[in-house]
Amino acid sequence: MGINVAPNKILLLDRDGVINKKADENDYIKSWEAFDWIKDNVDGLIQLSEKGFQFIVLTNQAGVARGKMTRTDLEHIHQKMVEHLSSINVKVLDVFACMHNRHEGCDCRKPMPGLFMQAAKAYGFDLEKTLYIGDDPKDCKAACAAGSNSIFLGSPQRLDDLTLHEKPIKVANSIKEVLPFLETYFKQAKATNQSEKLF
Ligand SMILES: [Mg+2]
Repeated sequence: MGINVAPNKILLLDRDGVINKKADENDYIKSWEAFDWIKDNVDGLIQLSEKGFQFIVLTNQAGVARGKMTRTDLEHIHQKMVEHLSSINVKVLDVFACMHNRHEGCDCRKPMPGLFMQAAKAYGFDLEKTLYIGDDPKDCKAACAAGSNSIFLGSPQRLDDLTLHEKPIKVANSIKEVLPFLETYFKQAKATNQSEKLF
């Protein structure tokens, strides 16, 4: 029997730069062969899974609109990614991808919050009670617009242009590093949006 997971044990993840290494500037991960895991983050996901967390991936993949890969290519990558993670007991409930180009004016390309809304609607969780882990300031902006807090993986200097409200509640180098923080955060009976901003 599977464990019945409380909705507030859903964590939202960016993909490139969090689960796998990013492609070069202005390029995309176009095949499963090019998908390269970030070990410290995957190790973190394994440990979070042991605590009962499940994951939803929210990712911009404009390479589809730009004709660099097909929707089928992208779906194949995600199928392999989810299968592999499942084989190491990391459960990804779903992957929501914005495949639009940046000039299309969609509401789902981060920093817009559309992917968050799609995920919350599909899985019935409260955006205010979860967190998004990303590696781009736009991830923090999108989370904020959706009413979620964020964790930023990377250098704090990259966050200078964010408003106080948009800033992440934690900055670190890997998911492994934020395990104690996440445990405390999700233990709070009422994780709210008003958490003290640390950066
Ligand atoms: Mg990223």
